[in-house]
Amino acid sequence: MKLTLYPFELKFRHTFTISRKSKDVQPLLVAKLEQNGYSGLGETADNAYYNMTVPLLMNAINAHRTFIENYTLTTPEIFWQEMYPLLKDNLFALCALDIAAWDLYAKQQQKKLYEVWQLDISHNPLTDYTIGIDTIENMVRKLQEFPWPVYKIKLGTKEDIAIITALRKHTSAVFRVDANCAWGVDETLRNAIALKELGVEFIEQPMPAADKEGMKQVYEKVVLPVIADESCIVEQDVTQCHGYFHGINIKLTKCGGITPALRMIAEAKRLGMKVMTGSMNESTAGTSAVAHLLPLLDYVDMDGPLLLAEDTADGIKIENGRIIYADRSGTGAILLP
Ligand SMILES: [Mg+2]
Repeated sequence: MKLTLYPFELKFRHTFTISRKSKDVQPLLVAKLEQNGYSGLGETADNAYYNMTVPLLMNAINAHRTFIENYTLTTPEIFWQEMYPLLKDNLFALCALDIAAWDLYAKQQQKKLYEVWQLDISHNPLTDYTIGIDTIENMVRKLQEFPWPVYKIKLGTKEDIAIITALRKHTSAVFRVDANCAWGVDETLRNAIALKELGVEFIEQPMPAADKEGMKQVYEKVVLPVIADESCIVEQDVTQCHGYFHGINIKLTKCGGITPALRMIAEAKRLGMKVMTGSMNESTAGTSAVAHLLPLLDYVDMDGPLLLAEDTADGIKIENGRIIYADRSGTGAILLP
């Protein structure tokens, strides 16, 4: 396969703030794999929490360029199995290659990816739209300028309940909240009661991933479902989250692509847990791949292309939460000129 890497730095529409940090640009990396006249695109993201930068990602992939360029793709699963020992310390890099391999594989069969998996897209969940942390006034303004059926609201401030109370005055849309590890046990239990009253559907990662004991206490008493994000990174984490969270948020970039994500989804369902996929602000190249997993999911947060003012690719479109697939095989993503 021929390998080409495309680094990007895309501007956000608004400064993106969560409990830990703010950013104005999102560095991203797109990988293209080509074989027999077909090409596939994959994407991965930089992330400070996981100490991942685009130069590190490019170095990790380039270290195995000769192997990849001498490799002939048979199935994406076999390719992942071959690449995993080489990139097990950099699953973010593996993700870009894995998605590109799935896109290429589906294109070779001239099928959309969900058709390769024989999935029914008629009951796909709607994607939420994220409101980052800001002053209450600005969060209300961001909500009003983007009417949407499902919002994910970033929390982890001194005025979390006041934020949701203020936003609730302006919409009856579904709310989910994400505290990004910012709360403790008592705060989570207390906030959950107030948030349930305000029509919140679930809480994503209320507490630090290291506080397993605290999470157990929360799980036993909390009045809203809690979904693991920072506590569920790779495949092995799914079983570990059982009995601590009601569901998991899988991110292709963190777990190493579609191949492990499919196994994580199956394991979570076997354990009776809810399944969500999230985003790390990937653009349309990577988000178009997530779209094909929708029939397998309970919830989805794939609003990267909506949060970014610029894009890498043409592919899926998002209309009022609904995903519209591109009329092309594979993931449907093609690089913008
Ligand atoms: Mg999260």
